[in-house]
Amino acid sequence: MLREWRSELNRLLTIIVCSAVLGLLFGKMTLLVLIGVLAYLGQILFQLYRLNRWLEDLPQSGQEDPPEATGIWGWIFDGIYRLQRQERQAVNHLKSILDKAQESSAALEMAVVMINHRGNLEWWNKAAETLLGFRTEQDKQQGVTNLLREPRFFEYFESKNYTEPLRVQSPIKKDLILEFQITLFGEGERLMLVRDVSQMHRLESMRKDFVGNVSHELRTPITVINGYLETLLDHKDSVAPRWIKPIEQMHQQSQRMESIVRDLLTLSRLETKSLPKEQDRIDSSALMREIKGEAQQVFANKEHSFELHDTPGVFIRGSLSELYSAISNLLFNAAKYTPNKGKLIFTSRIVEDGFEIEVQDNGVGIAEQHIPRLTERFYRVDESRSTDTGGTGLGLAIVKHVLARHGANLVIKSELGKGSQFICHFPKERLTEAPSTAKKQMMGA
Ligand code: ADP
Repeated sequence: MLREWRSELNRLLTIIVCSAVLGLLFGKMTLLVLIGVLAYLGQILFQLYRLNRWLEDLPQSGQEDPPEATGIWGWIFDGIYRLQRQERQAVNHLKSILDKAQESSAALEMAVVMINHRGNLEWWNKAAETLLGFRTEQDKQQGVTNLLREPRFFEYFESKNYTEPLRVQSPIKKDLILEFQITLFGEGERLMLVRDVSQMHRLESMRKDFVGNVSHELRTPITVINGYLETLLDHKDSVAPRWIKPIEQMHQQSQRMESIVRDLLTLSRLETKSLPKEQDRIDSSALMREIKGEAQQVFANKEHSFELHDTPGVFIRGSLSELYSAISNLLFNAAKYTPNKGKLIFTSRIVEDGFEIEVQDNGVGIAEQHIPRLTERFYRVDESRSTDTGGTGLGLAIVKHVLARHGANLVIKSELGKGSQFICHFPKERLTEAPSTAKKQMMGA
């Protein structure tokens, strides 16, 4: 580049010197130097004009090659041409990536929808048209909640909390069940993935129905067997002594079966029926007092010390019977899995984002690797220990379901040999005003 500039400066100097010499010969030095400089300027203007024409005509003519020029102008033209080519290559590269992304998402069976920060549709693939009924021309820039009017979708979309996917019916085919998963990105933009889960949904309902039906069908035979065994045990005198032990064992096992069937029925009801619209306003303190009283009675022989630190005046909206059974399950477990004369602390507290009820014990504790699996059905840390305590392995699964129905979650902390903490975390939205009839409701618990 330096070479070009040097030769350009040389050119200007040569023009000035030549015109000065000619000027000296003719006695008109200033005039001729002026003419020389003007000629140089004219040449610069001409090159600028060519450059301007080339850049302007480029989009129409498509003629890519720059105008012919030598020296610094040739270097400038070539430089601009090189930059243009690089830019074009970059644009083509991006375009091909975009085309590939669009082609592959168009081929997906899953609907992909891009939504801008105002909640309007920006782009969607072919599957979005079949699953959601979007139409290419008419629906562009429409608000997504104008097109998907299901109230549960509206609530989910506006909540901006997309940790769990949402399942609803398709707006165009009622027999399709769709699962929506939204991801926030950029400046308030959203990417929505929608897949058809009808088949999975049907299988799940079949499984739920099957478990529900089997448990229901088993209830009567087990009750009958249990009844006869109890009668036999009530009349031990008329039973041959060698049969007494087997009958006692049969009775114990049939009672276990009864508990399992009862818990399975509870789980199946929790899975198939949603919380009723009309919900109780539950006085958390009264609920905790009542549960503590019952646990103290049931586990009187274990001589545990029960401490209660409740927070008066906090009311939870939900199902009293369900929350009673879930929270009492936690306190009963704490009492069951703590050796005699243990210390059980039952606490509630208001926290920044809601309300917590905690059950703490200084019992056997749970090893870290078991904690994430505790709420699975029939998961037991130690089979023999649970059988001794008469557990079904379904208690914590029920607790998790009940809490989820109340928008709450269960946090488990434990250390082997030191004890455990089970914390039910209720979101702020679950708390409610005190009802005038709160006391009466509690009495009906
Ligand atoms: P189970 O009917 O067997 O008690 P749960 O679902 O209630 O079933 O509990 C699952 C397992 O979690 C239990 O088998 C037990 O090993 C463990 N567990 C539950 N609560 C406690 C606790 N407070 N301390 C120690 N282990 C516990």
